[in-house]
Amino acid sequence: MTTPPDVQVGVSFNKPDTLAIDILSKVTLSDFMDLTEDLEKRILKIIVEDDRRGLGIARMVKDITDQINSVDSDQAEILSRTAVHQAYNRAAWERIEKYAPFKIWIDTGDDRERPGHLKMHHVIIPAEEPFDVPAFTSGDRVIPACRMQYPGDMTYKPDLGQVICCRCTLGPKFTRSGGKMTGGKKGKNQVFRDL
Ligand SMILES: [Zn+2]
Repeated sequence: MTTPPDVQVGVSFNKPDTLAIDILSKVTLSDFMDLTEDLEKRILKIIVEDDRRGLGIARMVKDITDQINSVDSDQAEILSRTAVHQAYNRAAWERIEKYAPFKIWIDTGDDRERPGHLKMHHVIIPAEEPFDVPAFTSGDRVIPACRMQYPGDMTYKPDLGQVICCRCTLGPKFTRSGGKMTGGKKGKNQVFRDL
């Protein structure tokens, strides 16, 4: 039996992710930067509208700077990237909690990755438990350790150095098998990593 060509397997990236867009519309941009309430509302509206239309970060930055004189492109990029990242990872976590017992932290593994998040490479923990994200130094600043349910999570008030422009994502895991247990110190996640 052959599969009809119009059958889609897995996740469709063509359809808008309505859960993520709904979460995006409630992101608090002033968590990332000092903004007046009016500015925050106007910027978020542009980000949500562009995301709903499937437009990327570059377009959001253009639309924000075209329409709002007091925001420069660096600020617009930080706000768009960090808000979209938070919303999509939160949506992923909300789904994972419903169908998978474990979650995995997926870092990009490239040389732009912050050192603390490189250490989170393929850490697997129960879906409902927050990750223990380690401290790291950035220039002469120490960015403190924090807890996060998903990359970009602000629930436990992490230092912004753990959040701004992070590119890590979250995935589901159905078993911890094939992983190697590490850590497990008092107060730390009993961590499993993929080999
Ligand atoms: Zn990251």
